[in-house]
Amino acid sequence: MNVAPSPAGRPEHPREVPLIVADDRAGLLKAREALGIGAGASVGGSALALVPTMGALHEGHRSLIRLARQRAAHVAVSVFVNPLQFGPNEDFSRYPRTFDADLEVCAAEGVDLVFAPSVEDMYLPDRQVGVSAGRMGSIVEGEFRPGHLDGMLTVVLKLFNLVQPDVAVFGQKDAQQLAMIRRMVADLNLPVSVVGAPTVREPDGLALSSRNRYLSPEDRVAALALSRALHAGAGQRTPAEIRRDALAVLAAEPSLAVDYLVLVDPATFTEVGDGHTGEAVLAVAARVGSTRLIDNVTLTLH
Ligand code: AMP
Repeated sequence: MNVAPSPAGRPEHPREVPLIVADDRAGLLKAREALGIGAGASVGGSALALVPTMGALHEGHRSLIRLARQRAAHVAVSVFVNPLQFGPNEDFSRYPRTFDADLEVCAAEGVDLVFAPSVEDMYLPDRQVGVSAGRMGSIVEGEFRPGHLDGMLTVVLKLFNLVQPDVAVFGQKDAQQLAMIRRMVADLNLPVSVVGAPTVREPDGLALSSRNRYLSPEDRVAALALSRALHAGAGQRTPAEIRRDALAVLAAEPSLAVDYLVLVDPATFTEVGDGHTGEAVLAVAARVGSTRLIDNVTLTLH
């Protein structure tokens, strides 16, 4: 277990250290002990980085793991499809579950610990208390997925409490999720440093997502309109022009059902007006067939 960290803070031979898989809270405590967290190596003072996921891991998740390895001596990945963040008519039961392949990805990326609890282990049957995402939880994604951001924050807070990471890495792909987690960390004084990671895309622009595997070949062609629309908007100067050009691309793809296309402040997710300068997030959500996809880009307005 005691592999000396390299100057960059990584174990020299990560695969000489077996990947520990904890499938409940007791296993997690043992794993933290086995890794010597609290007493062992740190990178810039960080012993443990957490990458929370719902599994079905792809290159986007891999990029988060690599970033996590630069930020802490040990990396934990959680794999948990969180029922609280799915609405009654959403895809909880058919969400892809590929645990064996996920473990292979984690092993290949030098992950130290995978935490994959059951729903029963995470939630008491008489659970009462959760996190409220506040007003910010009812706009943009929250308007179309009521309760989603509350459920997401609740599980992230639980994962922080259980895994006790110094650092947690999240993708910019879920921009409102990342903004809300930063908000929760600030509002509740959580001792975790949040790191955002850029969106990984296919060569043709489609943002990687576990849900892309639902897309038929025709759906996949239609789905490309999301990144094309963001790109078209990004070429413009004023908020009105940005929205106009992005919407025109979406409108030209009849098999897309658009939930929203917004240009928002990156921290608050409120729409920016015409006088806005600085960063803004152009975010889109649309359904292609029965699959709902989201994407965004960050722009700088002068
Ligand atoms: P998920 O498993 O979809 O809940 O995602 C787990 C984490 O991976 C979240 O922080 C996501 O934002 C991030 N993620 C998902 N897709 C991508 C992507 N294409 N590029 C970078 N990060 C991503």
